[in-house]
Amino acid sequence: MKARSKETAVNEAKALRDMALEHLWIPFSMREDLTAPDGVQVFVKEDGCRVIDVNGRSYLDAYAGLMYKNVGYGRKEIADAVYAQMLELTSPPGGRGGTTVPAVKLAAKLAEITPGDLLRTFFVTGGSEANETAVKMAKQYQRLSDFANRYKIIARMGEYHGSTHLTMSLGKRTGTAWAAYEPLVPGVRHISQPYCYRCPLELQYPDCGLACARELERVIQFESKEMVAAVIMTSICQSLPVIIPPPDYWPKIRSICDENGVLLIDDEVVCGFGRTGKMFGIEHWGVTPDIMTVAKGLTSGYAPLAACIASSKITKKFDESKEPFLHIFTFGGNPICCTAALANLEIFEREKLVKRAATMGEYFSKQVQTLYEHSLVGDIRGIGLMWAIELVKDKKTKESFTREEDKDIAGKLREAGILTAVTGGAIRFLPPLIINKDEIDEFLTIVDKVIGELEKELSAG
Ligand code: PLP
Repeated sequence: MKARSKETAVNEAKALRDMALEHLWIPFSMREDLTAPDGVQVFVKEDGCRVIDVNGRSYLDAYAGLMYKNVGYGRKEIADAVYAQMLELTSPPGGRGGTTVPAVKLAAKLAEITPGDLLRTFFVTGGSEANETAVKMAKQYQRLSDFANRYKIIARMGEYHGSTHLTMSLGKRTGTAWAAYEPLVPGVRHISQPYCYRCPLELQYPDCGLACARELERVIQFESKEMVAAVIMTSICQSLPVIIPPPDYWPKIRSICDENGVLLIDDEVVCGFGRTGKMFGIEHWGVTPDIMTVAKGLTSGYAPLAACIASSKITKKFDESKEPFLHIFTFGGNPICCTAALANLEIFEREKLVKRAATMGEYFSKQVQTLYEHSLVGDIRGIGLMWAIELVKDKKTKESFTREEDKDIAGKLREAGILTAVTGGAIRFLPPLIINKDEIDEFLTIVDKVIGELEKELSAG
């Protein structure tokens, strides 16, 4: 076959980009800090920790797609398993008790690998749906427990729990961009994050006495505990970014929930499946939630699948009541997706990826410290393979970078061959868990160079 000329390839790439800009609604396409330099970047190939775009340029993906490609790109064993399942059975008859072998096996597997007595899974197709499911389940549980007035949900400011109307309402943000979707769903209250580097309460740990966790107690009392159904939080907030709570934070949150009859929902959409060096982020604190939501790493993005996993306390109540849970998504628990998840989890076991994330995280943690020599590096924090390198314009005042500047930093990294997100000057490192030491060094060398360039530019005014 005749090789395509370079000119043909460039023209084809340009035509694809133009077509995408015209016909494809690209998420975040209007946000300068999160989008590609010319609005869209079309990718065509993947392998390991790398992706190749339509122009043939290869990038090290330090953001694992959108924090989901935990087993890395190009896993033939998942493709093979999905192909075989597609030839057998692609969907059960819906809504009449029908299910499939992969769905049953995966639900049992999740009960085995999640902490405590998390027992029964409701499958959906994405993290937002999983959180919607958790909130509905929590409200109904409270009603079945004779607390019909318990409908309020408490979440944390600055979290991201999804893009549906309810999940947006859970993730409180400021800024005019949110105004378009107001009024958001009522009955949601917000408390502060355990963000020690920029404490929202202007206190210092441990002298603060965990004021941010105690805020939960105050808000429950203020809202009246007879009216609060549940608290929802990520075990480690990725969006703000990478806020690792102090050691006593989660046990305190758990005990406040227990004392007030409030359910605890743990959103493990990002932190789940090895990201933090344990299977689930909350295991670092030895706490078991009443409901856990998972997505992303469940299939490592090889198929759209997410789950809401309920503890035996919840399932018992529903079983006893015989009241139905009025909730269904056509493609939730599709056997093709469940097969992808099972094959994905087999890779986790075979390659001991959770342990690997912990080991590589320790290596990263040591190597990254030299970046503190830069005048712009304010804080570096993370655990396992979930890190943020937060740049500030001034280490004393902690002045943040703007969105326009974030775009510039992300653009420089992209130019140098690294894909990742940069928000508020924080450069993320959440790569596939298969990343090796050479690739970590490659990332750090490029980040070091880019920060050096920024410093020169800023000092030149
Ligand atoms: N929860 C968290 C913590 C997330 O980061 C995300 C997405 O990034 C979601 C929920 C929503 O997941 P999805 O995009 O699959 O709906």
